[in-house]
Amino acid sequence: MAYLRSALKFFVIAALAVYGWLKVRLTSQPTLIILTYHRILPRHHPDRKFEQPGMVTDPEVLKRHLHLMKSLGATPIHLDDWLARRARKEPLPRLSLVLTFDDGWRDNFQYAYPILKSENVPATIFLVTRLVDTNDVFWPEQILKLLTSTPLSEAGPQYQWLTPYLPNGEPNQAPLTLSQADQVINRLKSLDDATILNHLSDASPGSSSPGTSEDDRSILNRQELTEMASGELFRYGAHTQHHFRLNRLDNPSTLRREILGCLDDLNDFGKGIVPIFCYPNGDITGDGRKLVEDRYQAACTTKTGWNPGNRDPFDLHRFNLHDGNSGSTRYLLATIGRGIL
Ligand SMILES: [Zn+2]
Repeated sequence: MAYLRSALKFFVIAALAVYGWLKVRLTSQPTLIILTYHRILPRHHPDRKFEQPGMVTDPEVLKRHLHLMKSLGATPIHLDDWLARRARKEPLPRLSLVLTFDDGWRDNFQYAYPILKSENVPATIFLVTRLVDTNDVFWPEQILKLLTSTPLSEAGPQYQWLTPYLPNGEPNQAPLTLSQADQVINRLKSLDDATILNHLSDASPGSSSPGTSEDDRSILNRQELTEMASGELFRYGAHTQHHFRLNRLDNPSTLRREILGCLDDLNDFGKGIVPIFCYPNGDITGDGRKLVEDRYQAACTTKTGWNPGNRDPFDLHRFNLHDGNSGSTRYLLATIGRGIL
């Protein structure tokens, strides 16, 4: 039975890969494909131990993606340039390739930037503006680090609020595996981000505390942003001020600050700013979308798929890539093939 299942999986992946390849080769109408990344970390990088697998791509895998897409005839372009050319009704490439990086991770500078520079491929990074220049850590990474290194039964009373979200709803006696901790993160998304951050800041400093030294810094700083923008290769869009999921914000003034204040922060950074928004976790409400449409030119979602030339600019689809769904040519083609089903 297991053999049959893995044979079936092999054929489905192969069929999707062929479909993806045909789609890329035969597209005749101008089409935009947006590839999305979060963290770019070499295979043995220590941060991989505390990161959700769906967030991480090996630099060598990123390089292979670029080679493959170029060999299939895709034209790399800045997202704002594609939007501007479309607005002016200028001819667009048959297949345009846009790269986006979400959250503003420091590893984008360390590992993606050198590759994109040597391949001459532009990209937009969506920044969480109040985290730039800090040693702050996103809450999922704080919790992953805690749960994979310390049993909750030994973590102290300040972390017991996590109990209902653990496997079986009771304190674990041994550290969780990364996959178990990943499931806890998904269950915690039923809470709003401020509540989780308040719980974490109430807890005494320990293994889950934010980084305190330059070595621990995981978010880009201004110097890195300036350097990456200097060659016109990197541009920066908005991903809110604190990475709050917008559908969890009840307070209208917080919603305004997260959406509009983020663009003001970006404009303070200087070079390479584009008025393009990216919804954290893909979550949005009608009020949020209205604010985004008022102040931005476009918005990226977490919806999967290709963008035909007439796609609504505030509903751009993307392919979120990581080692698990695009570690080989076959998997990458199957992932982008699946986006048209
Ligand atoms: Zn994000």
